[in-house]
Amino acid sequence: MKNTAKKLLGSAVSPGIAIGKALLYQGSDPGEIAPHRIQTDQLDAELRRFKGACHEAAQEIRDLQAQVEQEGSKESQEILSAHLMMIEDVDFHDQVEGRLKETEQNIEWVVYDISHSLMQTILASPDPAFRERASDILDVSRRILCRLLSVTVVSLSDLDRDVILVASDLLPSEVLTMNRARVKGLAMDMGGNTSHTAILARAFGIPAVLGLSRATAEIQDEDLLALNGQTGELLINPSPSELEALEKERLRYSQRQEGLDRIHDLEARTLDGHLVELKANIGIPEEAEGLLHYGAQGVGLFRSEFLFLTHAEEDSKEAADEETQLEAYIRVLKAMGDLPVTIRTVDLGGDKILPGLHTAVEKNPLLGWRAIRFSLSMRDFFKTQLRAILRASVHGRVKIMFPLISGLEELEEALGVLEEAKGECRAKGQPFKEEIEVGVMIEVPSAALCAGILAKKAAFFSIGTNDLVQYTLAVDRGNEKVSYLAQGLHPAIIRLIKMTIDAAHAQGIRAAMCGEMAGEPRTAALLLGLGLDEFSMAASSIPLVKEVIRGLRVKDCQALAAELLQGDSYEANRAILDKWAAAHLPKE
Ligand code: PEP
Ligand code: MG
Repeated sequence: MKNTAKKLLGSAVSPGIAIGKALLYQGSDPGEIAPHRIQTDQLDAELRRFKGACHEAAQEIRDLQAQVEQEGSKESQEILSAHLMMIEDVDFHDQVEGRLKETEQNIEWVVYDISHSLMQTILASPDPAFRERASDILDVSRRILCRLLSVTVVSLSDLDRDVILVASDLLPSEVLTMNRARVKGLAMDMGGNTSHTAILARAFGIPAVLGLSRATAEIQDEDLLALNGQTGELLINPSPSELEALEKERLRYSQRQEGLDRIHDLEARTLDGHLVELKANIGIPEEAEGLLHYGAQGVGLFRSEFLFLTHAEEDSKEAADEETQLEAYIRVLKAMGDLPVTIRTVDLGGDKILPGLHTAVEKNPLLGWRAIRFSLSMRDFFKTQLRAILRASVHGRVKIMFPLISGLEELEEALGVLEEAKGECRAKGQPFKEEIEVGVMIEVPSAALCAGILAKKAAFFSIGTNDLVQYTLAVDRGNEKVSYLAQGLHPAIIRLIKMTIDAAHAQGIRAAMCGEMAGEPRTAALLLGLGLDEFSMAASSIPLVKEVIRGLRVKDCQALAAELLQGDSYEANRAILDKWAAAHLPKE
């Protein structure tokens, strides 16, 4: 039965209005699996369920095999054959049966437990190629578990109709591999404005409302949805008059966008002549090709890890390949001509998990094996990336940036690995630019507090407010329950930004910002007043921020920053900025 009309409210994270049919996506994650005892007389039935699930999963793989055979992809065929062998492996079946009888626990837990131990053994292997097989085990075990638990698996890459995607949560890799031409809007229970799914939705221009809490509970497949990425409203089966109002709003939005398009050739210069650099954040090379249209003066943040995540569902080994990376970096450099491109070395870990490398479950992934920590402990992987960037450097103006630096030791160690990579390029006669600039992301409170120390070894800083807010205010950036606390205007954040910019300038280096705060038109005046040199943001935000900057005077911005530096709470600062914005910013 069709749902009645209803309205949900979440965080508006990617602008635009989408109207269309819902697709409820449950993903391929079977969810939490817990052990429980079963009766001895149920053992045979449990075993039969397991055999049935394997049979269905094997059939599904055979169907996929037939599909890829037509496409002629040899790699996909090999992977699927290996998966089929695993599902039908006699030893595996014997092991499951033996463990079931021995422990008398539910079959889901037995399958989960056996595959988990197998993955751990594989991951402990010194052979990187063998370690990658862990992702196949994960894939196969999920396939069987989904059958056992009756979780429907829909592949987002095969969508053949326009949809508004409704999910509890989506992995960044799922957003990267979905058929983006078919996803007209995105509604999620979880996630906040700075979650990576939100960042990708903005990058791809997909209107999105996250943090809706009950979207998957309230919405049914095929419900008509109207999603407003400006207000955070999601209407379920709206009335004709509501639809009409939204259509009007959609028209207003596109007219305003067209107005902004006209300023793309103008400089981001304040009324009193101060020139600001506005750059774009990108996640995949294709994005670079549209940047000049928005007036981007370079790429301030290339989240290089998305290169690996894009391939995660296929073969991360291929993505890690030096030549594949080199090609991707050159593509971006060529698209940007002589404009600078800052490539951030991979920020894998946290919510950006690479199957095959990251299968070990961490209790606190955001405080764990992430970003520079991951790279420093995966030397060959790290050096491969650095060599690819160095080799790309002769094709344009490339800069390197290290993520999540927490102190001097990490920076020095990373710089040491870079020197090794340079030595290897020299030994092979591969040319690169010796004077390549190396910067540091300031996104951990300790880095901001020690910015004066780090500035001596860095060519530039880029402030990552998404993580700086997360770690300073102890608020998980992807958790909608606490996202109200993710406040860039918190006095602690404003003070840390000021310390970072001052430390950079005292050492004669530039301070940029590539966190989402840099793309908020309302905070541009504050950041300018604090002395920020460069803003890097989603390309679509550049015209909006530029329009604001062109109406500002540096002296006024400095007065505003001084006032906000005195503010004693987020609420007080928000009130100050609201008043200021009403008096100085263009009306919507
Ligand atoms: C940040 O933390 O602000 C940042 C730009 O990096 P990411 O969002 O990729 O963590
Ligand atoms: Mg970050």
